[in-house]
Amino acid sequence: MLKIGLTGGIGSGKSTVAKLFQQLGIPVIDADLIAHQLVRPGQPALGALVTEFGPAILTSKGELDRSRLRELIFHDHTAKTRLEAILHPAVFAEMHRRATGLQTPYCILAIPLLIETNAQSMVDRILVIDCPERLQIERVKRRDGLDESLIKRILASQASRQERLAHAHDIIVNEGDLAMLERRVKDLHLYYLKLKPNQHGNHDP
Ligand code: ATP
Repeated sequence: MLKIGLTGGIGSGKSTVAKLFQQLGIPVIDADLIAHQLVRPGQPALGALVTEFGPAILTSKGELDRSRLRELIFHDHTAKTRLEAILHPAVFAEMHRRATGLQTPYCILAIPLLIETNAQSMVDRILVIDCPERLQIERVKRRDGLDESLIKRILASQASRQERLAHAHDIIVNEGDLAMLERRVKDLHLYYLKLKPNQHGNHDP
């Protein structure tokens, strides 16, 4: 199974691109979705987090109290590393497990922080959705109504466009309209269908 790692900065268009691949019949395994599923009550990863951070990270219903966890991370710099040491291997193992059972010629592994978490070896090729920062800010503002300074802080905390592009095998420059994006995804889809598993390279169709 050829695994394409889909990544990009905030608001670059990852979810939109993922949906377009899904419409073409290609399965998308989403790291963020799995991360949420793995910390539901009863899941081993939630138990591991409670062992590490204490029961105060749970709500009265026994669910993960995300705002409490965010606060912990904000006040204790080691907490983020400890959290990631528990969550990331669990998420990547589950993504790998789900990809193994698939029958399609290729699949998409959507990993927003693929570069930041050094997860390059999880995938055969890296598809970067690239977009000028000005457009990222505009789109996130429109979508979430977030404050521009907060969006800029998030952008600064992520890998830079250059860092991400340095790892890319394929690039979608998402600065046109949705019809253009759809055409680009279709072209890439045809290209991926012709590739063999584990095929690396820098050939851009
Ligand atoms: P995040 O990192 O925040 O999860 P994302 O990379 O998944 O974001 P999307 O949610 O796909 O990005 O796109 C951000 C917003 O921009 C959405 O509202 C989406 O509909 C819009 N958008 C994406 N691409 C285009 C485009 N080419 N033309 C117009 N709007 C677009």
